[in-house]
Amino acid sequence: MTDTTAPLESVAPVDALVVDSLSVFYGAVQAVREVSFSVPPGGSVAIIGANGAGKSSILKAMFDLVPRRTGRLTYGTKDLMRARSHQVVWAGIGYVPEGRHVFAGLTVEQNLLMGAYRKRWDAEVRSRLGDIYELFPKLKARQRGLAGGLSGGEQQMLAIGRALMSQPTLIVLDEPSMGLAPVLVDEVADVLTRLRTTGVGLLLVEQNAELTFAVADTCIVLENGRTVLSGASADLQSDPRVRRIYLGL
Ligand code: ATP
Repeated sequence: MTDTTAPLESVAPVDALVVDSLSVFYGAVQAVREVSFSVPPGGSVAIIGANGAGKSSILKAMFDLVPRRTGRLTYGTKDLMRARSHQVVWAGIGYVPEGRHVFAGLTVEQNLLMGAYRKRWDAEVRSRLGDIYELFPKLKARQRGLAGGLSGGEQQMLAIGRALMSQPTLIVLDEPSMGLAPVLVDEVADVLTRLRTTGVGLLLVEQNAELTFAVADTCIVLENGRTVLSGASADLQSDPRVRRIYLGL
């Protein structure tokens, strides 16, 4: 984590994400049980827990990607429970889904432009693209190559870059380290740390302890769909329950 200069334009988030008594259902299965937490403007929160605890379901619920959800979800004055996925993005929240989901048959640049689909191709989009290439020089080098030909780490950077194209004030990441070699996990941690210096808020689900504690101010620990522990990362990282049960340390 050497370079702390952030090539991206700074943002000034004013909105807090508030998740209040959120429950998620897949038919008869209740995956999330009345979970509440908030991400302050420009803050960074990680959701951790064992496989199947309900972490991804919380993120998917924010983007209207689950069959049924109850409770309240707001971003500033915007009611996300009434918003469809694309409207959540318009509200200023970017999403980096688990497994990256880049468009393998499109070029790197076309993937990035998909993240700006709502905007006309103009100087603003061009300048944003330039910012993303500055943040991820490897993507610039491969801009005309197919996304499907990128390595896992490069695809992760592309997925993050694509989410950044819409100039979000909060970015939601589902297991950004998944399947990456340790050196690439460090790269992701570095990018997220640099992003934080621009003022962007982060909400992430992450199994990698080092990445989590490097990036998140606050952690929420989920077990069977419920919050069992939450607090400052600095306090939780030494909690024996967190170390032993959730992070396998
Ligand atoms: P992982 O780390 O394995 O991704 P997670 O903490 O993100 O786990 P979720 O993926 O949110 O957990 O899953 C929570 C629960 O909901 C699990 O019991 C899972 O089997 C169930 N579940 C998730 N998606 C579906 C689905 N599409 N249909 C039915 N049940 C589902």
